Formats: sequence, C-alpha cells, structure tokens
Amino acid sequence: MQIPLVDLRAQYKTIRSEVLAAIEDVLSGMQLFLGKQSQAFEQEFAAYCGCHYAVGVASGTDALALALRACEIGPGHEVITVSNTFIATVEAIALVGATPVFVDIDPETYTLDWTQLERVLTPRTRAIIPVHLYGHPVEMQPVLEFAREHGLRVIEDASQAHGATYRGRRVGSFGDIGCFSLYFSKNLGAYGEAGISVTNDSALAEKMRMVRDHGSRIRYQHEIMGVNARLDELQAAVLRVKLRYLDQWNTARQEHAQFYTEQLRELKIEVPFVQLWGTHVYCYYVIQVQGRDYFRKVLEQEGIATGIHYPMPIHLQPACAHY
Ligand SMILES: *Cc1c(COP(=O)(O)O)cnc(C)c1O
Repeated sequence: MQIPLVDLRAQYKTIRSEVLAAIEDVLSGMQLFLGKQSQAFEQEFAAYCGCHYAVGVASGTDALALALRACEIGPGHEVITVSNTFIATVEAIALVGATPVFVDIDPETYTLDWTQLERVLTPRTRAIIPVHLYGHPVEMQPVLEFAREHGLRVIEDASQAHGATYRGRRVGSFGDIGCFSLYFSKNLGAYGEAGISVTNDSALAEKMRMVRDHGSRIRYQHEIMGVNARLDELQAAVLRVKLRYLDQWNTARQEHAQFYTEQLRELKIEVPFVQLWGTHVYCYYVIQVQGRDYFRKVLEQEGIATGIHYPMPIHLQPACAHY
C-alpha cells in the first residue's frame, strides 16, 4: 500500500460533483474576479472564524504582506516572529521593507514562546506574528497582553491552522488581523493559489481591499500604491464547496492523529502534544525520533511517505543571513 504525504485525488472524489457544478457556474457567468463567489466566500469564511470581515487574496504570503501594509509597517520597523516556520512568514516582513526579529519556540507545542518577547523588544518593534504551526494554536493570551502593553500589532499566521481553536475560539480571530494560506495542501486548500485575511477592524479590511486591487476602490482611480493580489472567482467557488467540509475533515485528521499517537506511544517517539487550552487540526502530524533518516527510509520501504518540516530553520537560511 502506498501512502502519499498528501492525496488530494481521494478528497476530490468525495466532492467532485459539487466542485464541477461550482466551476460551471463561474464559467457560464464569466465574472472571473471580485464577483459574487469571492464576496460570498469572504462572508462565509469571516463567519467561520467569528470575525466581521474577510479579504480574499492571491496567496498566504500576500495575506501577510497586505496585513503588514494595512498596519503601516515598513522600513525601519521590526516585526517579531519565529524561526521555526515556513519562509513565507518572514518573506512578508521583508516584502514590506521591515526587519524580522526571531524568537525561539516552546518545545512542547513548537510555537512561539511568549517569555522570549521582552528580550527582543526595541523602540522599533511594531508587530508580532505568532504562527499556529502544524495546526496547534499559539498560547495567545500572554502575546496579546504583551502587545497591548507595548502598543504592538498582532498579525496571526494561521496558514496551517484553519479551524483550530484557542480557549474555545477559532484562531485568526485574536489579533488585529488573522492570515491564512489556502495553498492546495493546507487544511482548506484551493485548486491553485489563494489566501485570505480576517479582521474585526473595518479600516484595516478596507485598506487590504484597496492594496490587493492596485490601490483602488473605484476602477482606474488609484489612491495608494497597491499590487495585484486578488482572489479569483474560480478558486473562491471551489473554496466555498470545501469550506462546508472543513470541520468534518479536521475531525477526521484528529481521529487519525489519535490513532497514530496510540500506536506510537510505546516507541521512543515524541508524538504531538496538545495543550488543554487548544485544539490541534494536524495540518502536519510531526514527531521527533532518534535516527530520523534511517526511520524515514524504513517507512519509505513500507510505502509511507514522510517529510521534514522544516529541514533548516529560517534564521540559518542564506536568504536571511543579513538578519
Ligand atoms: C503555507 C504557508 C504560508 C504561505 O502561504 P502561500 O499561500 O504558499 O503563500 C505562510 N505561512 C505558513 C506558516 C505557511 O504554512
């Protein structure tokens, strides 16, 4: 039996007719951007997260960069985040011209360790980007308190945690803005590139809407410099179908994870830890094991694919040498 890391064909089989009908609906109308599908998806996703507004964009990287832009973070400013993340978190900071400042992670949840924040605070610090990595939430309360105390923005990177909860509320709804990648292999994934941000602040939402569409509210009137980072209608239509299944799929991930954990507990393996204050949605089921490379080879011989998330922390990447 072959067990790939991601098998989207199996998922597609269960939603095929709904997806094809949604695509047909878009193509027969030929409204391909900023139409009724993306508007509806934004409303549905905002409601899912328990937020007032959502702004659909072209990728998770764009969601983060536009969030930083909306918060007026740029050159001369520092943004605190973790090195144990996917590069896009840090790229977004670099894209707006700000400087990333790295802190370490909590060894149990693999997410931002709030006790490190004080040590890296400077007069140039403007924001914190906690990353809900692998599907486990960051301990948000102390992060939010620290941010409030020092007048910092909090932009959550929830790209691996669609539907995960912290103290009963969905991640993405705690900071000033919550950002999500909708890359195909995430818990909620498009059939192409997409991302979305959620917020309760109407001014921030409006600013992100303008920046994603060439800095305009009215076509060909450009109030600020923007970019092309729109969510397209085909992706929005697919995402609306998939959003209806997200909770069910997350539950299935949790059941599989529980099964793995029960089976692996006897071995000398660090299985994922779940804090009592949160729920884990297992974008990845990450373990620590002695003799990793040999372990992977044995699994590969059994037809079980694995990945390393991540082979090199961001602060050691050549791209980040100057930070
Ligand atoms: C996937 C991911 C992103 C970037 O998303 P894209 O849609 O690929 O641009 C950002 N942060 C984290 C933690 C991610 O896993």
